[in-house]
Amino acid sequence: MKYFAGIDIGSTAIKITIVDADKKLVGSKTSGSGSMFYKYAHETLDTLLAELSLTRDAIAYTVATGYGRKIFKEADENISEITANAIGAVAAAREFGSIKTIINIGGQDSKAISLDDEGNVVNFAMNDRCAAGTGKFLDACAMNLEISVEELGEKHFSATGTPLSINSTCAVFAESEIIGLLGNSHSVEDIVCGVHYSIAKRIVKLVKRVGVKEGIYFDGGPALNQGLVHAIENELGKKIFIPPYPQITTSLGAAIMGVDSYAYQNLENIS
Ligand code: ADP
Repeated sequence: MKYFAGIDIGSTAIKITIVDADKKLVGSKTSGSGSMFYKYAHETLDTLLAELSLTRDAIAYTVATGYGRKIFKEADENISEITANAIGAVAAAREFGSIKTIINIGGQDSKAISLDDEGNVVNFAMNDRCAAGTGKFLDACAMNLEISVEELGEKHFSATGTPLSINSTCAVFAESEIIGLLGNSHSVEDIVCGVHYSIAKRIVKLVKRVGVKEGIYFDGGPALNQGLVHAIENELGKKIFIPPYPQITTSLGAAIMGVDSYAYQNLENIS
């Protein structure tokens, strides 16, 4: 049996996914990108392969994607994260039905991608200029509130009353706004909820740039935060689908692309 690796080197996290020749998920691993992307990507791949009792020889084709994709020189191919995200999202959402709009929030950017009926990308919009509305903003807020990003979701649902408004459009100013709110005796829960709604409002503006088409899918690490999911659904006024492993969608798409590229280049039946 041949295996295919998708390596997504993001600004904040490295995600590696392995699929088999039937494009079925075999395993995945996530680790921090740190400053040595290349070294950590190789280490993460080796750890994942060891966990799956596979060697590098078992990997027939590797596709790299994400912000740091070009530094993974051993890849057979590299593709943009927009393409990989779309392929992965369509595969991950099969049980949900057809998806037409992808919201991706990463460590340092956020994207809205519009798909046609065949799952092809027809338009996208991206915010990569400003940390507000990205995972980095959530990380900074959690740090200021002395909680972990994993705790943001549950705090959100313990908030009381109308969500606080966080008006700063810049992450740096938002940090001082948060410290000010704490000083005015607002609870951590109410501030977390306010942060989620401020991000949700930005994301909705981004999605509106590509058009809100039903069949909305949300991925990237921050999609693990149920409080943020709730805020985006409320701001959009629509239900959104979250895959079981939202952070690995783009690496899954890269691995799936690898199966097709390998079959095309080798003109062989690979399963
Ligand atoms: P990138 O691809 O740009 O590196 P990711 O999609 O991996 O970004 O998302 C990274 C962000 O995901 C982190 O900055 C963090 O805010 C968020 N995140 C990661 N794990 C969790 C978690 N368990 N719960 C909530 N948020 C998380």
